[in-house]
Amino acid sequence: MAAFTLSRGRTVPRLGQGTWRIGEQQARRQSEIATLRAGLDLGLTLIDTAEMYGDGRSEELIAEVIAGRRDDVYVVSKVLPQNATRAGTIAACERSLKRLKTDYLDLYLLHWRQSEPLAETLEAFARLHKAGSIRAYGVSNFDHDDLDEAAALEGGAKIAANQVLYNLEHRGIEWDVVPWCRERGMPIMAYSPLGSGGQDLRRLLGDAALRTVAERHSATPAQVALAWVLRQPDVVVIPKAGSVEHVRENRGALDIELGEDDLRTLDVAFPPPRRKTALEMI
Ligand code: NAP
Repeated sequence: MAAFTLSRGRTVPRLGQGTWRIGEQQARRQSEIATLRAGLDLGLTLIDTAEMYGDGRSEELIAEVIAGRRDDVYVVSKVLPQNATRAGTIAACERSLKRLKTDYLDLYLLHWRQSEPLAETLEAFARLHKAGSIRAYGVSNFDHDDLDEAAALEGGAKIAANQVLYNLEHRGIEWDVVPWCRERGMPIMAYSPLGSGGQDLRRLLGDAALRTVAERHSATPAQVALAWVLRQPDVVVIPKAGSVEHVRENRGALDIELGEDDLRTLDVAFPPPRRKTALEMI
């Protein structure tokens, strides 16, 4: 299993599991639990969630998934910006811990920036860290300027990761966010690596260039789309799978090594950015 050091000494797998839209339908609950557990058994032991997902129901479902194996799992959750004041962040974290039935998060992120005072969020993160409630903290959907601003604040140097939208169709972060993070040894967590779902997912997986590269590797388009994000050693990728079949397929992406020819084919179909653009979010 490809792994690397994410937050000061802790080694995490580079392929994890997303959980947006999980826990929202009672009828799907048992199959979602089985899928996430199958992912853990395959070594995808990083699980990404957020207080926002299903209004806490994603975290509640994950509590069942990690019961009895908490220390084998790297749990990431996120505080909503409207809760991210000094006191609000601490209260939100306590609620997440309760729903997850754990006493610590491995990584706690600010979900996105709004008007909350960033200095207060960082102060709360530092307090939670000191109290042992979180092992590391970071940010999500931060562009170059946000990262500059955060880095200059007290506690900013300890930001352990930036979770951002990144897939073949959304390469904007390659212009300045990836270089910023790479220079400082801060890993990127790539969300929506398959285009998130619906039409975007279908368009991406149906792309002719992606299918050509997939055929060369006797792989599926989804596996190549994930292998393309995984080509960079300092990126963690967190696809969401709704079935054991999909999670197994996604695990296979780790065994695919894309060559120069493959990357050229994909660059033609999905060109890298030629200028700075506003950070894209889902
Ligand atoms: P995604 O992982 O790009 O795509 C999920 C979609 O891909 C689902 O419809 C899923 O269908 C399908 N899929 C998964 N494996 C597949 C396969 N092998 N073949 C075909 N289809 C496959 O989208 P996402 O959920 O938006 O992003 C992943 C995670 O990133 C989220 O779950 C969440 O944890 C995180 N995220 C964070 C933010 C943020 O602001 N920080 C924003 C968005 C997402 P099935 O369900 O049928 O498998």
